[in-house]
Amino acid sequence: MASIIEMRSELDDLLRQAESELTAAASLDALTQCKVAYLGKKGALTKVLRGMGSLSAVERPQLGAHANFVKSQLQEWLDAREVVLAKLASTARIEAERIDVTLPGTQARGGAMHPVTHGMAEMAQIFTHLGFSIAEGPEIEDEAHNFDALNIPPEHPARAMHDTFFVREPASATPHLLRTHTSPVQIRTMKRFLAEGNQPPLAVVAPGRVYRCDHDMTHSPMFHQVEVFRVDRKVSMAELKGVLHCFLSTYFGHAVPIRLRPSYFPFTEPSAEVDIGCVLCSGKGCRVCKQTGWLEVLGSGMIHPNVLRSVGIDPEEYSGFAFGLGVERLVMLKYGIPDLRLFFDNDVRFLHKLAQGRGDQ
Ligand SMILES: [Zn+2]
Repeated sequence: MASIIEMRSELDDLLRQAESELTAAASLDALTQCKVAYLGKKGALTKVLRGMGSLSAVERPQLGAHANFVKSQLQEWLDAREVVLAKLASTARIEAERIDVTLPGTQARGGAMHPVTHGMAEMAQIFTHLGFSIAEGPEIEDEAHNFDALNIPPEHPARAMHDTFFVREPASATPHLLRTHTSPVQIRTMKRFLAEGNQPPLAVVAPGRVYRCDHDMTHSPMFHQVEVFRVDRKVSMAELKGVLHCFLSTYFGHAVPIRLRPSYFPFTEPSAEVDIGCVLCSGKGCRVCKQTGWLEVLGSGMIHPNVLRSVGIDPEEYSGFAFGLGVERLVMLKYGIPDLRLFFDNDVRFLHKLAQGRGDQ
């Protein structure tokens, strides 16, 4: 049986030991372990107090008072040490999370316009600067707008040359198709223009997608055209040539020689193929221009009187020119792109290189 004197000294020993352990606790975790070891339900203090049953009724409160003193002293040290350790932990965390804001950042590569979209916008802009208005039309067309109104009647051989995608639908309905050129926008725009009570002059640029059943190195089943036309009194071939020269020189960034060769399109009369002096060899002759020094870039002509008649414009009073150019072809020539299919592969390296070349990034 322990006496009150022995128990007091046990408590004092406990206090001394605890003081050195608590002040040495290196972390909050270690401190929690100390707390459990001394003040927990199975801790050292409880263990000493368990012997109180052997004391007399007079001694018990005396030892109880001393035990309370020990307990509150322990708690005081624990609290004080906790404040110190919490501060140390916070300082350590701040130090560990420090970032050097002077380090160079990781550069994010920005996106850029697709070369075809960019080229088409660039071309359209040259024409808007010349006073042309932008117009658009549907990609799913009917034969009336895609062919009939453009002087290509049902049995006309030019229909076969267009390799048309037809849209499957009930036999009774009007046949629809994916437009094979942007020329139907001419028809729709002129009709709308007149329906709104206007009379020429009219100058329009119509960029957009077109579709033909073709797929090889130089053809894609979907490609882009820019259609340009102007209707007024006394519009002439000379004006057409002037606009073409201005456009092509602006687009390529230097004066390019052009020549018009007689040709045939159902919707223009007279018609001309337009060649430019090869922009790759400056006309000296190379593989791309097949050693001729010339590149065919677009088809043009004076709007056929039948086309003007089909929309209700009197060809005796008004005349107009029209041409349609292939966007991909001109972008390929400008940037020296060898294969049309590169546009549709979406290889980021190719697109990025082109964007850099344009100065987008
Ligand atoms: Zn050449």
